[in-house]
Amino acid sequence: MSQKKKKIESVLIKPAGPDCNMACDYCFYLKKNELFRGEPKTRMSQALLEELIRQVMNQTKEQAVFIWQGGEPTLMGLNFYEKAVSFQKKYGRNQLVGNGFQTNGLLIDENWAEFLAKYKFLIGLSLDGPEHVHDHYRKLSNGQGTWKKVLNSAQNLLDAGCEVNALSLISDYSVQFPKEIFNFFRELGLNQMQFIPCVESAPGNPAKAASFSVNPESYGRFLICLFDLWIDSFYQGQPTTTIRYFDSIFYSYLNMTPPQCDLQFECGNYVVVEHNGDVYSCDFFVQPEWKLGNILSDNLLDLLNSEKQTQFGRQKSQLPQSCQDCEWLVQCRGGCTKDRTQVPQKQDLNYFCSSFKAFFQHADAQYKKMAEEWKIRDKQQREKNKKNMMEAIASGQLVVSRNDLCPCGSGMKFKKCCENQVFSNQNKNCLY
Ligand code: SF4
Ligand code: SF4
Repeated sequence: MSQKKKKIESVLIKPAGPDCNMACDYCFYLKKNELFRGEPKTRMSQALLEELIRQVMNQTKEQAVFIWQGGEPTLMGLNFYEKAVSFQKKYGRNQLVGNGFQTNGLLIDENWAEFLAKYKFLIGLSLDGPEHVHDHYRKLSNGQGTWKKVLNSAQNLLDAGCEVNALSLISDYSVQFPKEIFNFFRELGLNQMQFIPCVESAPGNPAKAASFSVNPESYGRFLICLFDLWIDSFYQGQPTTTIRYFDSIFYSYLNMTPPQCDLQFECGNYVVVEHNGDVYSCDFFVQPEWKLGNILSDNLLDLLNSEKQTQFGRQKSQLPQSCQDCEWLVQCRGGCTKDRTQVPQKQDLNYFCSSFKAFFQHADAQYKKMAEEWKIRDKQQREKNKKNMMEAIASGQLVVSRNDLCPCGSGMKFKKCCENQVFSNQNKNCLY
């Protein structure tokens, strides 16, 4: 059966490869240095940057999203991103261009903040929480903590007007402090948060989780406490804090596709481009068996639609029987493939399965209530839009062709949707 061709929606780029100016104890990506052993410095050249941007801009239609990540992307220097923006302008074809920038914050000064704000980069700042939480694992190679510097960077970014998402890794240590972490981010003005549970294989014993990994029971309790804090912070039925995982789950209660890949049916909807142009299936699968090609010899769109990438994506939907029979399958989809097939080892179920079950059990009733409220608000809004639209067409302020999509947002053609209602008074302001 022929599959619908995937479109390039976002590309994750590692311009400095695995190179980083921090030495966090729990970092999985530092190990990737072994993959590029022999290269003195892992840096993307300007010629490669131009070819990458040329391809993305040529192969996307309405929008192109570039996510700059590491290692540490600021190691490339500000000039590299000034070039990137100029190439986006040079090769742009009226698309909406988005840039995401995931940084540890060490090098972010006022100049960086000003540039990132000017071009509306969406920042993901790695900050685990208050000082004792952050400095527990996020250190320099000499063992010094980094919290004070990163806090200063957070302030620079906020002062410049950047949109900042706090990225917090949940380890065996930080898992004990959900309330303190949540309140810390809120007080700082970081109301967009993303929490990532940490699990890696123990050195020398892949069957075991490394000591800094969060255990599933503690992570389940963390999610439950965080969810209650999130709900408590609602104002007039609306969230005042964005927590990416909670927001994404809400989509499944509205029968929509969640934006987060671990909650989707299959993986493989984006690709990773390394500093040397090598293209891989996913950030967690930068390994020889999942190398798809290289942008200097291949076309990104072809790689995204290659047999190998399709095979990679399908792994996610090949779930064990216990997932297929699970009452939370629609919300969970088995979680991230990495935590099921790779770390701490290949296992039948996702490492965090018990966390997910405890969390869904706790949050289900609240999500259902929120979904009902959302549907009522959505219906009211649609009716209001429709009324305004009908008045605008009837008065001649809005002109719609019969074959246009109906402005009421139904997704149907105007002639099959609202036309009769609008023109029941015979006042036709429609172009035929
Ligand atoms: S392996 Fe995990 S992170 Fe990678 S695409 Fe799949 S769900 Fe997303
Ligand atoms: S909660 Fe566990 S069993 Fe259920 S779908 Fe998720 S990983 Fe599978």
